[in-house]
Formats: sequence, C-alpha cells, structure tokens
Amino acid sequence: MKLSMFIAGLLGFSTLLLHAQTKNTMNDIHSYANSHEAVITHLQLDLSVNFESKTLSGKAILSIKQKTKALSVVLDTRGLTIQKVTLNDSEKPAKFSLGEVHKIFGAPLTIQITPKTTSITVYYSTSPSAGALQWLEPSQTAGKEKPFLFTQSQAILARTWVPCMDGPGVRMTYSATIRTRPDLLAVMSAGNPTMKTPDGVYKFEMKQSIPSYLLALAVGDLEFRSLGNRSGVYAEPSMADKSAYEFVDLEKMISAAEELYGPYRWERYDLLVLPPSFPFGGMENPRLTFATPTILAGDRSLVALVAHELAHSWSGNLVTNATWNDFWLNEGFTVYFEQRIMEKIYGREYSEMLATLTLKDLNETIESLGATNPDTRLKLDLTNRDPDEGVTDIAYNKGYFFLRLCEETFGREPWDAFLKKYFNENAFTPMTTENFLEHLEKQFAIKQNLELAAKLTINAWVYAPGLPANCPQPSSNEFAKVSSQVESFLNGTQATQLETKGWTTHHWLYFLSKLPDSLRQEKVIELDYAFYFTRSGNSEILCEWFKRCIITNYETAFRPMQNYLMNVGRRKLVKPLYEQLAKTEAGKIWAKEVYAKARPGYHSVTYNTIDGILK
Ligand SMILES: [Zn+2]
Repeated sequence: MKLSMFIAGLLGFSTLLLHAQTKNTMNDIHSYANSHEAVITHLQLDLSVNFESKTLSGKAILSIKQKTKALSVVLDTRGLTIQKVTLNDSEKPAKFSLGEVHKIFGAPLTIQITPKTTSITVYYSTSPSAGALQWLEPSQTAGKEKPFLFTQSQAILARTWVPCMDGPGVRMTYSATIRTRPDLLAVMSAGNPTMKTPDGVYKFEMKQSIPSYLLALAVGDLEFRSLGNRSGVYAEPSMADKSAYEFVDLEKMISAAEELYGPYRWERYDLLVLPPSFPFGGMENPRLTFATPTILAGDRSLVALVAHELAHSWSGNLVTNATWNDFWLNEGFTVYFEQRIMEKIYGREYSEMLATLTLKDLNETIESLGATNPDTRLKLDLTNRDPDEGVTDIAYNKGYFFLRLCEETFGREPWDAFLKKYFNENAFTPMTTENFLEHLEKQFAIKQNLELAAKLTINAWVYAPGLPANCPQPSSNEFAKVSSQVESFLNGTQATQLETKGWTTHHWLYFLSKLPDSLRQEKVIELDYAFYFTRSGNSEILCEWFKRCIITNYETAFRPMQNYLMNVGRRKLVKPLYEQLAKTEAGKIWAKEVYAKARPGYHSVTYNTIDGILK
C-alpha cells in the first residue's frame, strides 16, 4: 500500500514497521506504533516542569499488553531526548533506537522487549520547541507576574511531550506526578487538586481510558471556583470570579446532556480558562476542558462553546474517531450535540440562530476550498499530511448538517434512541466512519428502503465533496428580523433608527455578516457611532466588525485591531483578519508589521496557519 511504502521509506531500515503498518487494524497513517503487537494500557508519568529551560524532564512508565510474540515495541516521539530505557523493574538499560526524523510525524522509538516484558520505563526530556507545549512569559498572562504552561496534544502532538502510541485508536489510563514551583498549581485531564501544595508536587489519577491526544497539563497561578456538585472552574486569580459568573449554567448543561445521551462517565466536569494565547476555542480534555478567555463576554452569550466541549464527553472522548480521517465523527456529532444542548436550555429559536450561523460558515468554507475539493468530504484522506489540516469547518458543520438530516429523516425520537444506544454500546472504543455507517444501517435498514436511501444520500454526504442539495435549512424568525433591518439600513435608514432593541451577540453577528462588501466607509463610520463596535468587549463581534473595517479601510479601527491581534491567540478569530488584510498590498504590509510583534505570543497551531497566509 502507498501509505506503508511511505512510512517504510521514511524509516529506511524497517521491514518491521512496514509489517506493523499494514497489519495495524486501525491503519492509523499518522502513528508508527505497533499497537496490534503490543499495546500500552497504562501510562505513569513523573515529570519536572522547568520554566527556565522550557522543558519537561523525568520518566514515563508504560504498562504494555503483548498480543503477539513481538520483539519490539514502537512508540511515537518527536523532538524528545531519550536518556535511557529499562524493562520491568530492572535498572539495566534496554536496547532502543530512534528512527529517522520526519518533520510532522517525528521519529519512531523502537525498544527491544522479551516475552516477559510487561512495562517499559523511558527516561527523557522534551525540547524547548515541543509543539504541544506553550510556555508563556508572565507578560503573556492575565496576572503578568508568573509564567504559565499549557499543553495542546491534539492531533499528534502528545508525542512531543510523552513517548506514547500517539493515535486515537489506542486507549490507556494514566497517573502522574508533576513537580513544579510551589507558587504554581498544576492541573491535568484527570482528578485534580483545588489548592496549591507547599512543595509544588501534585499527583494525578485518570481512571477512565483515553487516547493520547487527550493527555493534558497546565501549570500556572490558578484558583478554583466551585460551580456545583461535580463542576467548577480554574482560572488566574484576576479572571476567576468573571469566569464563575460566565459559566453559571454549567450544571444545567451537564444535566441536559445526560438526558439526551445517557450518563456522564467522567465523574467531574471542570473548566480551565487559559491565558489569551490559547489557539483554540476550547479543547475537550476529559474532566477538565481547556477554554479560551475570548468567551468571557460578560453576558454569557458565548457559552455555546462550553456546550460543545461538554458534548465531547460523549462524542470524541467516549466514542473516539479511530483515525484522523474519521475526524468528523468527533466534531460533527459534537456540533450536533452542542445545538441540542443549547435548544434544551435556551429554546429552539436560539439553537436555530446558531444553526443558521453554522450554515453560513459552512457555505463560506466550501466556497473558499472549492466545491470539488476532496477536503470537503466528511471522510478525509490525510495521507502524508499533518492531521491538523483536517481541522476545517467541514468536519464540524457539514458533519452537523448530515446528522441533522438523519434526525429529520428518521424522526427525532427513533434517532435519539439510536444515539443513546450507540454511545452506550461503543463507550471507550474507537470508531471508523464505516463502522458508524454499519450501526446506522443495522438500526434503520436504509439499503432496503429506497425512499429512505434517496432522502439521505449517504455517499454524497460522506464520500463526495461539496454540500448536497438536500442540506437541511434552519429557519430563524429572529434572523429574519435582522435581515429586514440590514435591508432598511442599506436603503437609507439611519443606523440610530434601526430596531435593535433586545439584540444578543448572535443578532449582531448575523447583522454584521449580512453587510455587503460594497458598503461604503461612511456607512461603516455611521454604524460605529451608533453601536460602538470598535469598543466592543465581545471577541466574536470584534472579529466580524474588523473584517468590515479592513474592507472599507476604516483607519480609526486599526489601532484597536492591532491590540486585538496582539492579545488574542485564538486561530479562529485572528485567521480571518489576516486573510482579509492579505488581500491588498497595503493591508499585507500592515499585517506583517503587526504580526512580527504578535507572533511570539501565538501558539504554534496559530502561527503555522498565519505564516502560510502572510508568506
Ligand atoms: Zn470540538
């Protein structure tokens, strides 16, 4: 197979690996691990956090279960310095070799084992440029006094801080000892402390099995606020109360989710509000969602993101995409669940507003990628590519609309019953696209029913590019009202005379998105005088607004926009602005100046994207 050839070529020496890859049942093209021969079942970490050298160092003890008479265990690593490897309780060094380094996939760590080997200890340290580790200077935090570290392991960055079988098809439990400065608190995707210890040593236990991309650690000046019996929020002291206010509905969300999809299996659900350079909206690290502070709008209007991360406790964390080509199983389901949770708490009108915005984003993404682009298929082909390239709206939003079509076709009740059963039966296991479709077929017998098959057009949705014509159309009365206000504004009504009473963040987002590119600068100024967009504290509104300002070259907004680009590291919010700026020569020059200053504060996930836009 093409893929195996590629991996073998990459390693140069290894027929062993060729064998491993072709036999790997998951056929995970982004991992060297020979998990079909010997698989990790438990990870025990003991790591010291060094802010001066920007490294983690210590050891990882990996419990392994042998499936065949394997001669070696192959782990994924990238940029790790391996000092020593031992087997079982012996101190005697074991034989190991690091293969050739590939820029994206790193180097396979091959360790010779015997039939009696049940555990491997790897003594190692990370590189200061480890892709998963974001080391923040005090100036990059809210408190400005203490440094901060957080990890982002998805998709294949766990291997940059832990030697492991770094594919979503392998699950393990873990425990950890983390040693850090005593003035900082360490938290993980595990059972967590709520107070600092005098010696800076923290112990963690994760009893539920997880794939490596959900390994997570954060260390910083953190405080905890309880939000209920099984939920709370961690944040820097200056943001702790604001965070607790914003997420007051968290317990309600957990209950709503449980009613829909069955019991929450991870005991606690806590949130960690990170400093602004966090590149994503949120990361569903089990038990402890990592979230961007850009959702702290002050009016709880952006908490759908929390519903999203919470929903991952089922879709993704419990039933996991088997490979990154099946990424839509994680994200499409999660957007679908998110909207159902929001509907349950805030009503159908509200969730239809969200769905309308989702469709708008999806159409824009398909337009920019091109409707025949293979990356607009749900089932991706990320062979020889960084799986991070699969992170587009397609997996999320096309996935959502396909599942919504399923709901509308089968009827909500049978569909919900199916989902509950599906998540229950497949809990803590990986899932391929094909396996999911088999479950669907088994439940609804689609192939025998021509009418159903014609309504669903499964192949068009899953394996063909573009957006099928039978895409469900959300309808929102509120947005219809917004559209009519846009219309009257364009027809000459003064901005101050528009009927905007009671509008929420989403009304405004829709309003701004409906403005045509041909809108003249004086109309943009008129809007700013009426609604103070440039001074908004809402990160999403600012993003949408600044796009308008760039198009019309509204200079007053450029300094605030510079501040925004310097202080927000969330890729979704800065990428559209750099893209818009790069469309003109003058814009690109300005963007490059700002970016030179902003880049050191961005996470690699963000600057890798922006580098590409401004090159
Ligand atoms: Zn997600």
